[in-house]
Amino acid sequence: MATPLSAADFLAALRAEGVKVVEVGNWRTHNRNHKGAWGPVHGVIVHHTVTAGTTNSVQICRDGYTSLPGPLCHGVIDKTGVVHLVGYGRANHAGGGDPAVLQQVIDESYGTAPSRPTKGNTNGVDGNHAFYGFECINLGDGKDPWPAAQLDAIERVSAAICRAHSWSAKSVIGHLEWSADKVDPKGFTMPDMRARIAKRLAGKPGTPTTPEENTVALTDADVKKIWSYPLANPADNNTTRQAGTYLRYADQRHNDLADQLDRIEALLKKLTDDKS
Ligand SMILES: [Zn+2]
Repeated sequence: MATPLSAADFLAALRAEGVKVVEVGNWRTHNRNHKGAWGPVHGVIVHHTVTAGTTNSVQICRDGYTSLPGPLCHGVIDKTGVVHLVGYGRANHAGGGDPAVLQQVIDESYGTAPSRPTKGNTNGVDGNHAFYGFECINLGDGKDPWPAAQLDAIERVSAAICRAHSWSAKSVIGHLEWSADKVDPKGFTMPDMRARIAKRLAGKPGTPTTPEENTVALTDADVKKIWSYPLANPADNNTTRQAGTYLRYADQRHNDLADQLDRIEALLKKLTDDKS
């Protein structure tokens, strides 16, 4: 049993564990606290989204649906291992689950896995007050790959929260271990993931990714100088362009390509499914 971390402490814990974080909008105050309790917290639940594409998935997890308003988790873990924070507080991710499992998580008393849940959304106990939740972008068909960077991020966010609360890896479960109605996450096993988290917890936190760490003491004038540093334009050797223009272009292009790749992947997947 534990009081939930503040949003600031939650963010700091993730960064200290080396998690790459993107803060989405007003995530710190975007929650369902007006609908029920947030805390005491007992663990972390890992999910898959059954969606493709980072932008799309992050938006769904932030906004939810008419029948299930967002946030649908606290962080969305994309295929490159970046964690997009979409909400903080009570979130619609765990739903109802098995009270026996909850007790085993609280006690951290089980072996490699908790007992199979026999209760779920309709007849279980509320899990939304009790669990931090992470949605991992995956189609959930057992074929969509889980890149190493994504699994690494699941390991790190889980370890970060366990470390902050002095929990063991047994406080981290999959949605399928919580609710009899659920199959997520599909494509790796939670006992394997818990073994990874336990190993990480036995050591020191990962290389931190605090913004401070990457900050060099620069004056505004320095930044201006760097931003406007002339770079040779590869398309035309007679001209140069400012570093800032190049960075903005490269960043935009990178995002566009990532989205394009997501769409192609989804399309290929659809084609393969149609054939099989
Ligand atoms: Zn789930």
